[in-house]
Amino acid sequence: MNPKVVVNLEQLESNVRFLTDKMKQNNLSITAVTKVHNADPQVIKVFEQFPEIEYFGDSRIENLISFCTSSKKKVLIRIPMHSEVGDVVQYADISFNSELSTIKLLDQEAKKQGKMHQVLLMVDLGDLREGFFEEQELMEVVAEVVKMEHIELAGLGVNLTCYGAIIPDEENLGRLIDYKNTIEERFGLKLPMISGGNSSSLYLLDREDVSLPEGITNLRVGEAYLLAGETAFSTPYEEMFQDVFTLRAEIVELKVKPSFPIGTIGVDAFGQSPVFEDQGKRLRGVLGIGRQDIPALDSITPCDDKLEIMGASSDHLIVDFTDTDQAYKVGDEIVFKLDYGSLLASFTSKYVKKEYLK
Ligand SMILES: *Cc1c(COP(=O)(O)O)cnc(C)c1O
Repeated sequence: MNPKVVVNLEQLESNVRFLTDKMKQNNLSITAVTKVHNADPQVIKVFEQFPEIEYFGDSRIENLISFCTSSKKKVLIRIPMHSEVGDVVQYADISFNSELSTIKLLDQEAKKQGKMHQVLLMVDLGDLREGFFEEQELMEVVAEVVKMEHIELAGLGVNLTCYGAIIPDEENLGRLIDYKNTIEERFGLKLPMISGGNSSSLYLLDREDVSLPEGITNLRVGEAYLLAGETAFSTPYEEMFQDVFTLRAEIVELKVKPSFPIGTIGVDAFGQSPVFEDQGKRLRGVLGIGRQDIPALDSITPCDDKLEIMGASSDHLIVDFTDTDQAYKVGDEIVFKLDYGSLLASFTSKYVKKEYLK
């Protein structure tokens, strides 16, 4: 059945080994981030085999619950909602936090459940998504947290290259280490986890001129494991398989038609007024996949580079087949490469089936 995402599990295992070894050679603890594949059980199984991976991190509590029997420690990497603290204490060993009101609720909830809950405080070093921005507020919250009976301070973390697209470097990550040192001195404690970012921090392990600052103890990596490249400069790792995940969609119609619509042009199904170039008659295929499956057209690329995506509606993708030498017919599958957005969408859509190659 199509559409489907096909996962080559053997290649995935090889990729996980490569990147895990690289991080371990740099003495880092590893949080494998599971949100991109929606905590897919078969993919989880591959990561589960690596004892070097200590943590599974996800932004969704539902996903942490789905692998609650895993041997890995579970980390909620999105700031918890007040409305979910019960599940957070029950299912996450560590949660990332930036609001005192939420940490207080976690403390009360942990007391109720007779547990200790670990919090890692997020620091905003300029990307302007989550985290403490002012040092003074951070220090005030640490002073409160260390007094809480059911909360343990696990450490500090930062997320970069997400909202502001800020590249991690020695300067901004160096500030994270400064905060760590200040807190350890002022409060007389040790912060075991200093989590220095996501797949965009990996480039610092490979360069001669810059390096990951001493004191960063952990990275949280999703995309690089799955799409086989670091993400600060989008450099693929040559040692990794680049197409572990591919998308297949099926041709449901293939006909020669004009390239310029006939009649008065209004707005399309998504409220846009489309612009067309008259290229005469073209061989056009309609595929049984649409924006309900993959919201952005530019996030999938046909492996046959002679095929050109023309447009899509909710359930149909229009592809120009005129220039390809392949003799496609109705019923054939077209293979696409995926990026972060389309991989996320494929695993999240209930309409996209999952197939595994061993
Ligand atoms: C998504 C996310 C990650 C993983 O990012 P990748 O680019 O997939 O490695 C790490 N940390 C946080 C807080 C995230 O939200």
